[in-house]
Formats: sequence, structure tokens, C-alpha cells
Amino acid sequence: MKIAIEELAGCSGCTISVLDLHEMLLEVIAEADIVYSPVIMDVKEPPEGIDIAFVTGAVRNEENEERLNLIRKRAKKLVAFGTCACYGGVSGLSMLGKQEDLFNCVYRGVETADEGNVIPTDVPPFLYRAFAVGDLVKVDYYVTGCPPKEKFLRTIIPALVRGDPIELSKKSVCSECDRKMGDVQNWHLKRRYEGTPDREHCLLGQGYLCLGPVTFGRCGASCPRNNVPCHGCNGPSLDILREPCRDIHNMMVRRIADLTDTPEKEVEKQLYDVAHTMYPFTIGSLIMEDKEISKIRDLVRGGKA
Ligand code: SF4
Ligand code: SF4
Ligand code: SF4
Repeated sequence: MKIAIEELAGCSGCTISVLDLHEMLLEVIAEADIVYSPVIMDVKEPPEGIDIAFVTGAVRNEENEERLNLIRKRAKKLVAFGTCACYGGVSGLSMLGKQEDLFNCVYRGVETADEGNVIPTDVPPFLYRAFAVGDLVKVDYYVTGCPPKEKFLRTIIPALVRGDPIELSKKSVCSECDRKMGDVQNWHLKRRYEGTPDREHCLLGQGYLCLGPVTFGRCGASCPRNNVPCHGCNGPSLDILREPCRDIHNMMVRRIADLTDTPEKEVEKQLYDVAHTMYPFTIGSLIMEDKEISKIRDLVRGGKA
């Protein structure tokens, strides 16, 4: 069994999450060779005859696209590994600005940039938009998470390597959360820095924008368990993926309206920075953008890089 891990537009965190398997990696490499992974070995090009390729990161520039096409040709099975690969991830937010402005910010604008930094001209050009891996090539398995959580990987990686079938939860983050609904009188949307949420009751009920109802689970609701609202890093829940009339934004608005007995229009007025709060992990996904009711088209209109 030959395994490869490819890096596209991402942060390498997904590959590091594989290393987080620690001693279980020994069991994996007893049955499979990791033949290609630019993050963990000095190797430039994937070999022929790969059995499983884990592809991390989104497709944002021409080099990403070229590497994706090559590894798809050379691998029998391809796993979109991590939320960037599955739904475009945070790279998709680059569609909110122009390439020129982004490069200016990254190479010259940020505090850590050296004075006089020159913007390179020999980097691969952006594609006209960000893509999820499945927007461009056939994907055999999707593994979401930013990055996928160690506990989950401990179940799926050995099964993938051995070819064993496994049953996985298809539930949302809310289904994995043990918080109770509290009092929702005088509900208003709070920013994360406002107050400290109580540890017992639903964060959404307390006014914090918790995306648990619209987010795919398998992380054990790790953020709400640590008193932090879910920001949707596992990508959309299955009902949103399956139903054309359901989208992250409209389902969150509906959920809050039902919960608080507030008209949906009033709820919408309270939502701020919709791109970064509702779609930070999915804005680069054609599946999500193509929905009739998606807000993504409006958000990126005019900002195409
Ligand atoms: S999914 Fe998250 S951890 Fe993985 S490459 Fe993208 S940003 Fe990094
Ligand atoms: S909205 Fe958040 S805090 Fe409330 S039940 Fe769902 S995951 Fe838990
Ligand atoms: S609770 Fe939400 S943000 Fe936190 S790990 Fe799970 S899916 Fe990601």
C-alpha cells in the first residue's frame, strides 16, 4: 500500500494532524509506505502507482491545479482531506479581495513584513476563483475538519489503509453537544468578546453565534465543550449539503428566529460580516455557491481576484 499526501492552498495543518497520530503511525506504516509528502519528506513529485492520495488544501492558483491533476492521475483513490480540500476552506476568503491588494497586504502590509519588501512576480498566478478539490476532480472520500481531529483520524486512517468498511456519525455538532437550552428572553447577538458564556446552556441561546446546528459533527463538539462557539470548521451539515433550499446563512437565520421568536428579517439585521461568520470555510466551494439561496455570489461579486 502506497500513500501520498499532497499540499495545495492550505497551511499544512492537515498533514501535521496525521503526525498527531503519534505511535499509531507505526501501525499505519507497518502496512503502508508514505511515498510522498512534501511537508514531512524531501520529495518533489508524486510517484506512479499511489494507492491512496490524501489531498490537503484548496485549489487557488495554477500550480495547485496542476499538482491536483497529476496526483489524481497517479492515485487509485483520492481523499479530500480537511475542510480546505472539501469546501475551499479559508483560502476561499481571498475571493473577497483583488490579488493585487492581497499580495500588497501579505508582502508589505502586515506588521512583520520587512520595510522595502518586493512583491514577487514569479509566483503562480491565481485562478479566477478558489475551488474545492471535488469541484475539479473526482473525489473518492471526503474527510472534513480544519484540521481533522486526531480521535476521528484514529478511526478512519487504519480503516482506509486496510480497506475495512466503517460506520461513521452523520450528525451535526449540536447532536454531539451536551449543553441544555436556557432562557432566551431578550435575545440579542453578542460578539465573542462580550461577557463570558455560562458553561451549562446553549451558546446560541445565550446570544453567541454558534454554528453547531449547520455544521457537520465528528469533532465531539470540541469548541462548545470548551466554552467557545462553533465557527463551522467541519463544513456544512448533511441536511444543508443535500437540500438545495438549505444554506448555512438561511438555516442559521431560521434557527435563531425559531429559538428567539424574532422575525427572520430582524435576525438578519443583527448578523455582521456574513462572509467571515457564516462562510469562512465554505466560500470557495462551488457546491455551496451554486445554491439558489446562497449569499456567496453577492459576497464575492466585484472582489474577484
Ligand atoms: S483544512 Fe485547516 S488545517 Fe487543513 S490545510 Fe486547511 S487551513 Fe490548514
Ligand atoms: S448551538 Fe452550539 S452550544 Fe448550542 S447545542 Fe448547538 S453546538 Fe451546542
Ligand atoms: S465545534 Fe465547530 S469549530 Fe469546533 S472543531 Fe467542531 S466543527 Fe470545528
